Amino acid sequence: MVDENSTGIWVIGEEKEGKLAPVTLELLTIGRQLADSLRQELVVVIIGHQLEHMSRLLVDYGPDKILLVAGEETRYFIPETYSEVLSALVEQRKPFAILFPATYDGRDVAARLAAKLGVGLAADCTDLKIDEAGRFVQVRPAFGGNLMAVIHQPTARPQLATLRPRMVKPNKSGRKVSPSVEYIKPRISAKPFTKSLLRTVREVAEESGNLDEAEVVIGVGRGIGSSENMRIVNHLATLLKAAIGGSRGVVDAGWLPHTQQIGLTGRVISPKMYMALGISGAVQHLVGVRTAKEIIAINKDPEAPIFKVATFGIVADMFSVIPLLAKELEPPAPQTT
Ligand SMILES: Cc1cc2nc3c(=O)[nH]c(=O)nc-3n(C[C@H](O)[C@H](O)[C@H](O)COP(=O)(O)OP(=O)(O)OC[C@H]3O[C@@H](n4cnc5c(N)ncnc54)[C@H](O)[C@@H]3O)c2cc1C
Repeated sequence: MVDENSTGIWVIGEEKEGKLAPVTLELLTIGRQLADSLRQELVVVIIGHQLEHMSRLLVDYGPDKILLVAGEETRYFIPETYSEVLSALVEQRKPFAILFPATYDGRDVAARLAAKLGVGLAADCTDLKIDEAGRFVQVRPAFGGNLMAVIHQPTARPQLATLRPRMVKPNKSGRKVSPSVEYIKPRISAKPFTKSLLRTVREVAEESGNLDEAEVVIGVGRGIGSSENMRIVNHLATLLKAAIGGSRGVVDAGWLPHTQQIGLTGRVISPKMYMALGISGAVQHLVGVRTAKEIIAINKDPEAPIFKVATFGIVADMFSVIPLLAKELEPPAPQTT
């Protein structure tokens, strides 16, 4: 039975060691659009330890309400604890839809919450919107990215979805209304959990630069031909202060590690400039660069699909273009007297 009283779009934010994950602001941006279309309130929930400074970071992105669940019990991320806290809140307040980031933590908690509530979960969405009929629809790639599935959960309340990071640019809402802020003590059942945290391991940036943060990214495709040819790309990347990623083609060939794969089964990036070298532009690759501001493509095939999405395209052999680019970018040699 659909509970017609369920209302409110909830965004479950992510916080680590006092820092707000940028994906929270992306979710708030899309959440604001959904809430406005449905004329419902937008609520952001952050679970953690000391969260006093959080509302200041969230306020510009348009929430009507900020729920800060803070306590010793939620100091560390333990998915059983987080999902229990959320389940109690949801049972009590009955939101219409809940949006999670499709991160390791977000996916874990969303799946547990869906199971606890007995509702479905549209996982790994690339878009969330309200259709002409006023329904909340969730869009995600299916069948290896060859189809975009449009999912609608008419009988589920709340409707749960995870959204991939970097699918939307975070946008300040420009609203003048101040959100209400509510502090909540986590309520955890007495039963002992099956897991306890022994230590935390910090993720280190890859040698070739941090793909997630880089303003300029060079994407290398199978057109590079061999791992030896990566040398000229590395040189160009140094001159452009760019991080290097690549297509699944180069990862499968063993020329780049999987951590540097861009696309459906790799990373989603959002640089100011993405330079695609010898990449055909398969749909599975393009999912990973959808929010890149400018795409520059170099490919010797004028029919390559990458040119359909490129801001600037160069139809040429990359091995003749890259040295010319590098020459332009190299600092002038010091004058000798
Ligand atoms: C379930 C599934 C998931 C997938 N996930 C991903 C993913 O996450 N990321 C991803 O990238 N792919 C993914 N793929 C694979 C994807 O479909 C493509 O096969 C892959 O992206 C192709 O890589 P590519 O563009 O490097 O190679 P190709 O398609 O072989 O293209 C090479 C390009 O290089 C050009 N070229 C060759 N030599 C030169 C030269 N000297 N100068 C300039 N241009 C040159 C050619 O004209 C060609 O366009 C997935 C596929 C499936 C089925």
